[in-house]
Amino acid sequence: MEDVIIIGGSFAGLAAALQLGRARRKVTVLDTGQRRNRFAGRSHGVLGHDHKPPSDIWAEARQQLARYPTITLLNARADSITGAIDNFSVLTGDGESLGARRLILSYGVVDQMPDVPGFAENWGASVIPCPYCDGFEVAGQHWGLVWSGPQSMNQVKLFDDWTDRLTVFADGHDIPPDVRADLARRNTPVVDGRITGIARHGDHGATVKLDTGADAVVDILFAHPRTKPSASLHDSLSLATVDTSTGIALKTDERRETSMPGVYAAGDLANPGIPSVTTAVWQGAMAGIFAQQSMLV
Ligand SMILES: Cc1cc2nc3c(=O)[nH]c(=O)nc-3n(C[C@H](O)[C@H](O)[C@H](O)COP(=O)(O)OP(=O)(O)OC[C@H]3O[C@@H](n4cnc5c(N)ncnc54)[C@H](O)[C@@H]3O)c2cc1C
Repeated sequence: MEDVIIIGGSFAGLAAALQLGRARRKVTVLDTGQRRNRFAGRSHGVLGHDHKPPSDIWAEARQQLARYPTITLLNARADSITGAIDNFSVLTGDGESLGARRLILSYGVVDQMPDVPGFAENWGASVIPCPYCDGFEVAGQHWGLVWSGPQSMNQVKLFDDWTDRLTVFADGHDIPPDVRADLARRNTPVVDGRITGIARHGDHGATVKLDTGADAVVDILFAHPRTKPSASLHDSLSLATVDTSTGIALKTDERRETSMPGVYAAGDLANPGIPSVTTAVWQGAMAGIFAQQSMLV
């Protein structure tokens, strides 16, 4: 029996494993290698790792974990979870059954791309979600924002620190007159119509095709598709969730424990705030430490 099984071995899961391995606890990490930022050429804003390919950060972390004899990294999917505190079972996609006293869920979320030709193909290059991640590199250029609801106004205000050339694409949303007046006051034009296609030009430029027949060209396009958890294992345990502006997140307390004793959660899966590698690492480290402390006698 393991002390802890970690499901999802990316930034949050590996950070949890590091703390547990250093405390000499037996831990197995299951991972399917589909990190959320795998579409991005470079990762930004992570202290000590700025401007590195995300796969390099992940590979270096895995290499460092090899020092710890009680950590096992498995390239395997967790298919189901049963049991309760001190006696959980995890069934892997390979049909192996593993037991553990504690679980850490860090299997992240999936961005649900709209069915628009060119959207998924250009995700991470000319269609991106986050100015903190990639805004500096395109500061001062002509940005586009795909409107996704009232929360998009926060993005408009946020983008002010990076550019004064922003175009909003309504994409079929009914933007109210007072919001349009606010956008006009900010010199932010609104392009009406639904987006029917996105074509990339250059490194990150985007031509946005519209059902009105018009095309609009921007240097980079920001969009915030809804997310969903990468697996539904939390549903089988009936874990409590909270609503976020783009999806749901697992509810945890300040020790990163979910609504079920012995089950901890970290990273984008359990982050109703601003998702990032740094936040995932911090939450993962805390989940590892608190899971370990919960086993002290
Ligand atoms: C295009 C893009 C660019 C980004 N750029 C940046 C950036 O520059 N800087 C930054 O800080 N953040 C960036 N982010 C955000 C960052 O990617 C996430 O915040 C971070 O990856 C969250 O880490 P995580 O460990 O919670 O989840 P993830 O990195 O998404 O990892 C989850 C892991 O769980 C695995 N998994 C899923 N289901 C199972 C299962 N059933 N069994 C086993 N394993 C499973 C997956 O394969 C995956 O490896 C970016 C995001 C996107 C979409």
